[in-house]
Amino acid sequence: MSDLVSLKDFTPADLELWVQEVEQPAYRAKQLLKWMYSQNVEDFQAMTDLSKDFRGWLEQHARLPCLMLEEVLTDEDGTRKLLFRLQDGEYIEGVLIAEGQRLTLCVSSQVGCAFGCRFCLTGQAGYSRDLTAGEIVDQICAARRELGPDERITNLVFMGMGEPLANFEQVVKGLEIIIADNGLNFSTRKITLSTVGLIPEMHRLSRLFPVKLAVSLHAADNETRSRIMPINRRYPLEELLEACRQLELPRRQRITFEYLLLGGVNDSAADARKLGKLLRGLRAKINLIPFNGYPGAAFNRPSPTRIAEFQEILQEKHYTATIRQSRGAGIMAACGQLRHNR
Ligand code: SAH
Ligand code: SF4
Repeated sequence: MSDLVSLKDFTPADLELWVQEVEQPAYRAKQLLKWMYSQNVEDFQAMTDLSKDFRGWLEQHARLPCLMLEEVLTDEDGTRKLLFRLQDGEYIEGVLIAEGQRLTLCVSSQVGCAFGCRFCLTGQAGYSRDLTAGEIVDQICAARRELGPDERITNLVFMGMGEPLANFEQVVKGLEIIIADNGLNFSTRKITLSTVGLIPEMHRLSRLFPVKLAVSLHAADNETRSRIMPINRRYPLEELLEACRQLELPRRQRITFEYLLLGGVNDSAADARKLGKLLRGLRAKINLIPFNGYPGAAFNRPSPTRIAEFQEILQEKHYTATIRQSRGAGIMAACGQLRHNR
């Protein structure tokens, strides 16, 4: 199996080159791309406008699926957690969240994560490996097969397992396929990538694609942030926010700052005021995320009154501050509840 060429790991441009290399006419690449991404077909035999010979040859030399959707868990609120099995037996999770007209797929970028944020279950489980571009893209292809006839994935968020910017090359390649007209054809405006704040890669990404950026801030002072997010020792708050100020954003685009609310840790009125000060002058949106628990967690979710007060302080300072409803908590599919070892 492993010596087969994985076609979903090719960007459309790479696929064109490969088609040349295997001495097929150039239009074969177009045909393949149409079957792979518009028709979402996984079986070469179903690609009826390819010659029988070429279909047989493809079966011997190439493969399409990069993962298998092994299980779908549906929460009472309609959120679906997708359990994917990779070819080496590792597992990752994705989440489908329906909200009004929107259907958002939350994708993973790594098996596990090496950043060890104290509040995150994925972080607790440790890092196993990076996903390939094909494995990133195939989460979308496999999820699409699960949809009802009237459903369509409208938005993508890189907020599943892993730190997307720590798997930069594969995530960029995945994005190329996701965005390409002859790939999955998503608009960059419908894609949000969440990062723990890897400054050099944030700059590199913003020069490549105008996707939306969400930065996991979670504290308004270095002492607290370093305590809950070890990455803060490498990229402290002032450097991170300076980098955010320098990013070239498309017109009217803002950076989302995610702020996890941990009871008694970072949820006081003083913290809210500090956060307001810190983000002054930035084109910012604040997304407050009440902590989602799991067995053995060392943190608590603040009371609803606390959460509302925190939000009000920011709104008084004229920030857009929303509270992220934790969807999928009943099936352990909410933010921070994804894991790969079972
Ligand atoms: N590695 C990236 C993206 C994946 S995590 C990042 O950290 O930004 C997506 C979001 O879920 C992040 O903001 C993360 O901090 C948050 N999160 C992690 N654990 C959580 C928990 N237990 N409850 C609520 N949100 C959590
Ligand atoms: Fe990794 Fe993000 Fe979890 Fe931190 S919050 S451990 S960066 S997945």
